[in-house]
Amino acid sequence: MASIQRIIPNNFNLPARIERLGELVYNLWWVWNPQARALFSNIEPQRWDEVNHNPVTLLKQSDRARLNAVADHPDYLDLYDSVMDQFDRYLEKNDTWFVTTYPDLVSKSIAYFSFEFGLHESLPVYAGGLGVLSGDHLKESSDLGIPLTGIGFIYHQGYFMQHITEDGWQNTANYTLALDEMPLIPLLDEQRVPVMISVDLPGRKVFARIWEVHVGRRLLYLLDSDVEANSPNDRQLTARLYSSDLDVRISQEILLGIGGVKALNLLGLEPTIWHMNEGHSAFLILERIRAAMQNGLTYEAASQMVARTDVFTTHTPVPAGLDQVPLWMIDKYLAHLWDDLKLTRDAFIDLGRHQQAWGENFSMPVLALKLSEQRNAVSEMHGKVSRKMWQFLWPGVAEKDVPVTHVTNGVHSLSWMSGQMRALLDRHFPADWMEHIDDAEIWEGLEKIPDQELWQVHQNLKDDLIRFVSRRARRSWVTGQYHPVQVIAGGVLLNSQVLTIGVARRFATYKRSNLILQDYERLLKIINDREMPLQIIFAGKAHPADEPGKLIIQQVYRAAKDARTAGRIVFLEDYDMNVARHLVQGVDIWLNTPRRPNEASGTSGMKAAMNGVLNFSVRDGWWCEGYNGENGWKIGKETEYHDAAEEDRDDSADIYETLEYEIVPLFYKNRRAELPSDEWIKMMKESIRTLAPQFSTMRMLKEYVHRLYIPGMTEKTDKIAG
Ligand SMILES: *Cc1c(COP(=O)(O)O)cnc(C)c1O
Repeated sequence: MASIQRIIPNNFNLPARIERLGELVYNLWWVWNPQARALFSNIEPQRWDEVNHNPVTLLKQSDRARLNAVADHPDYLDLYDSVMDQFDRYLEKNDTWFVTTYPDLVSKSIAYFSFEFGLHESLPVYAGGLGVLSGDHLKESSDLGIPLTGIGFIYHQGYFMQHITEDGWQNTANYTLALDEMPLIPLLDEQRVPVMISVDLPGRKVFARIWEVHVGRRLLYLLDSDVEANSPNDRQLTARLYSSDLDVRISQEILLGIGGVKALNLLGLEPTIWHMNEGHSAFLILERIRAAMQNGLTYEAASQMVARTDVFTTHTPVPAGLDQVPLWMIDKYLAHLWDDLKLTRDAFIDLGRHQQAWGENFSMPVLALKLSEQRNAVSEMHGKVSRKMWQFLWPGVAEKDVPVTHVTNGVHSLSWMSGQMRALLDRHFPADWMEHIDDAEIWEGLEKIPDQELWQVHQNLKDDLIRFVSRRARRSWVTGQYHPVQVIAGGVLLNSQVLTIGVARRFATYKRSNLILQDYERLLKIINDREMPLQIIFAGKAHPADEPGKLIIQQVYRAAKDARTAGRIVFLEDYDMNVARHLVQGVDIWLNTPRRPNEASGTSGMKAAMNGVLNFSVRDGWWCEGYNGENGWKIGKETEYHDAAEEDRDDSADIYETLEYEIVPLFYKNRRAELPSDEWIKMMKESIRTLAPQFSTMRMLKEYVHRLYIPGMTEKTDKIAG
């Protein structure tokens, strides 16, 4: 292995007393530490907002006079010293959960492959839920000391920026990330040349360099094909997420799966466990088998050894979400591999063959399911759906015995809980509560929190949300490119005393984000009630190729512009982790209306719950496990419908009824001094108490370790490998 240099770029002109800020910005630990965030925002609050909370950009742009001023301020220096001390202690901690639980396994490690990582809005290499989950997985691994390394792509153009035209049509704009303003550490060789791996694509080699991202105690490697050795086309290969071009897609998958294994080898890592987060990275299996065969194993022995240490997580029951390519593409891209694996073409194709109504395909999830001994869905409900969906791969095995288990998703509590809520819990919970987030007993402490204090935190966050919305509306207005009615649709008429619903998710048709608009007249009555009004804030992107999804956005946007909704229906453009955080922390109700049983898990409702926001959702995905009758509301019946229109009618009628008779009256009942009823606050507490521990990544990661990582780490594997 060549010696690899990691040189943290530090070209900020910082006063010596606060010099280590230049180090802090290169470790995303600051993302889940409110005091560290304050260290940046206190430099220049407005600029901090304008740079979308990118501390590298902030430090580059801040002028020296401003930095000198903060470096002279005793309060700032106290904060600085405290944060740097916490940072050092965090990095040095050696009695983490993993180390104390599995002291014999500390030399093992896990490679975690994902097409996207959502760690923070300032590193926009994610599209949605899958990426945010990967980011949360990595952060929690850091907190728990799990020896896990992430690998994915740096996408130079990110996903896309969303702009809604006056007529409600989603336009997309590409942007180019300034890589020198990302928290990326280049990996270089002795000559200071980027270290690279390569993969074979038809008629050529494609190279990729490797960037390192520090996430607390853990590392994330991002591959990047934008290097001189590649043709102009190949340099664009990793430019964007989820291209609809199948050639791009399969090339990216080869680069991540096969190139990813090579990259980890090059860096001297020898992971024991290989976790595929979705099927995009499943080609890693083939590369691992190939390498084992080169070391003398037969295909059978190699594939068994590989499968024993592979973990595969499936994330979607929606056929359109399944990653697959026609067989001719396998011939085009992978023909050289079946010789290496000593397989016939037919036997090779069999590894991923999926016969469907519209023909035969090579399916990435099939490949991953066949060659991973540990397989899981992401909620109990999704487990059932997945066992049914994949039963054909285990002929003769009863549906309930199909070997796909589930680990229900969670969210990284410290990233998604507002700083104010965290401070409230700090005041009332045991000092070490953050190390026991998954312990239900800790959360019994909510009982002792006075209602006013909890409500005050919530009301502050709601006020913050409304200020955030109006700042964004003003910022779009001054560009001169918006019609006045779009400014109203952007939320300037919101009122922080009014009951507020948030609906934010990808605009895919099965998510039915327009369900609440089904009986528009009835909705108008609810919204415009004189005594008890309601307002709804929508956000979300549709995939650029998803025309039906864009039509749903248009329907929502027209409602937002309609004078009859009185500015109480709002659409926020350009949903990202920043918008998500404001919404899940600041609304009163989180609405989710997927068509059952298509929501594998859903995670935004979990983020909302731990902030005291109440869920109002179809019982699908995580809400089947989360709802207990007293911690929020459910929508519709748990029956399978054959007629989608009938399902929509029933579910929307249930939404209106529950709003009219339960939610709205409960919110406004007995309001005194701007405090809602006791029952409302009781429900908030019940929601936090029951959902925060259960749907945390702390609970989730411990389950992954105990149930999916450990089996492949123990001696059975060593014998074969040794
Ligand atoms: C949490 C999150 C998601 C996923 O939310 P779902 O409820 O699973 O749809 C998507 N996008 C962003 C920006 C998020 O923060």
